[in-house]
Amino acid sequence: MSASRRVTTAVNDVLDLAPRRGEISLTRLVAAVSADRGRPIEVTMADLPPGVCGQWRQYADHDVFMIQNGLPTWDRTLAHELGHLVLGHYGIPVTEAARDVAELASDDLIGYMLNQRTGCMGPGGEDIEQEAEDFAALLLYRLGRSPSDRSSIVQVRLGEAFG
Ligand SMILES: [Zn+2]
Repeated sequence: MSASRRVTTAVNDVLDLAPRRGEISLTRLVAAVSADRGRPIEVTMADLPPGVCGQWRQYADHDVFMIQNGLPTWDRTLAHELGHLVLGHYGIPVTEAARDVAELASDDLIGYMLNQRTGCMGPGGEDIEQEAEDFAALLLYRLGRSPSDRSSIVQVRLGEAFG
C-alpha cells in the first residue's frame, strides 16, 4: 500500500462509521457515510457511455453514484466514487449532468469529462483520480475483498440480500 496519509485517514474515517454488528459490506459503508453526512447517497446501475465505469452526480439535496451496467469490477468503481466524495472532490453538478444527457453522444464531451485510465466520468484531474483509486484499493483491501475477484459483486449482492 502506497496510499498517502490523507487517503489512509479517509479510509479509517469511513471504516469508523461502519455498523458495529454484522458483516461490513461496501454498500453498508456507503449508507453509513450517507447517514453521517445527513445527505442521501443513491447508487444506481446505468447505461453510461462506452468506456465509462462510474460517475458521481451532485444534486441539491442528495448524491447519486452511477455505475456502468454489467461492470465486473462494480465494487471497485463504487469505492472509487465514494473516495471522491469523502476526499472532498467535486462531482458533476446536476445542471451540468442534465446537459450531458442531451449531449451524451458527443465524443468530445465524453473525452473531456472521462479519465481514460480510471474510466471515471467527472470534472476532476489526474491527481484526483489517483487519490480516488488509492482510496478504493485501500478500502477494498481493508474490507478483505480482492478488486480483481469477479465473484466479489455476487458476494456483495448476496450479503445485502441475506445480511
Ligand atoms: Zn474518478
